[in-house]
Amino acid sequence: MTDILDTGLSELDRARLDFRADLLDAGLLIGTASPGIYGRSGTFEAILSDLDRVLTEMAAPLRATTVRFPPVYPRVDFERTDYIASFPDLSGIVSTFEGGDREHRELLAAREEGRAWDGWLHPADVVLTNAICHPLYATLEGRLPEGGSVYDVFGYGFRHEPSLDPMRMQSFRMHEFVYVGDPDGSQDYRDTWLDHAMETLQSLGLPVDAVPANDPFFGRAGKMLVSAQLRENLKIEIVVPIYGDLAEATAIASANCQRDHLTAGFGIHTADGEVAHAACLAFGMERTTLALLRTHGLDVESWPLDVRARLGL
Ligand code: AMP
Ligand code: ZN
Repeated sequence: MTDILDTGLSELDRARLDFRADLLDAGLLIGTASPGIYGRSGTFEAILSDLDRVLTEMAAPLRATTVRFPPVYPRVDFERTDYIASFPDLSGIVSTFEGGDREHRELLAAREEGRAWDGWLHPADVVLTNAICHPLYATLEGRLPEGGSVYDVFGYGFRHEPSLDPMRMQSFRMHEFVYVGDPDGSQDYRDTWLDHAMETLQSLGLPVDAVPANDPFFGRAGKMLVSAQLRENLKIEIVVPIYGDLAEATAIASANCQRDHLTAGFGIHTADGEVAHAACLAFGMERTTLALLRTHGLDVESWPLDVRARLGL
């Protein structure tokens, strides 16, 4: 790592590489050939699942319906989220081989010669899930019960943002608590549960702050979406300082008012027949685990006793 560090990297890049190297040396994360794709150790997973239990206990009053989806979902539903319009660079499409013997022979010959063989693959009818609430919306078409519904969703998401910052992975888990119902209910839900999330994360000793989010919408058209997001205060991020003064604090969770952005496309209506609104509270599981490790140190044994007790570690 030292020779990379000597090649004129910024102080921030060095801090990121150092944190990454420390996590790998401690065996908490296991590096792979792709930046942002890691194995996780038993200790890392133990912290993550204890954290998850704390979040689930926090959300108990919601009496949410629990649903789980795999990390891929139908392409027809991906179309309805508009994700490809806003974040083409973050998307990931699955390809499969559908040829016969001739195409297989061609593929093998190309591979033998060290040429690209993926031209023989075709987009499948599934894509990688980018936000784990997306497959949920596709199941809610029609009318919601009076008072709306709340769902607990957990799973792996993919975002193509390769980075040597361990806080920025390509494949990571989210735990989301999603409300779908009327517009007032969705605003109340977002504000109330943002507060609960802040308190819960503070109880784990995390120095959290809440700031308005500006998502990395793609391209020139994206700039307008960013300013609308900020102007209308649609998304708040819960952030923790990871690299001191070198960078802005990193988002470990977000509280979003989706308005009818997804519900309209998926034909989800309130009991009165209006287009429903949605709000979601999303925790980044790896990021929150890493924020705990960054704040309290890589040796769990030496974490503050109250934090260990709260997590049951
Ligand atoms: P978002 O839907 O963008 O608000 O993402 C929800 C949460 O997922 C964020 O608050 C982060 O904690 C986490 N997250 C988003 N992108 C990444 C990433 N590239 N690597 C790790 N965690 C991420
Ligand atoms: Zn969501």
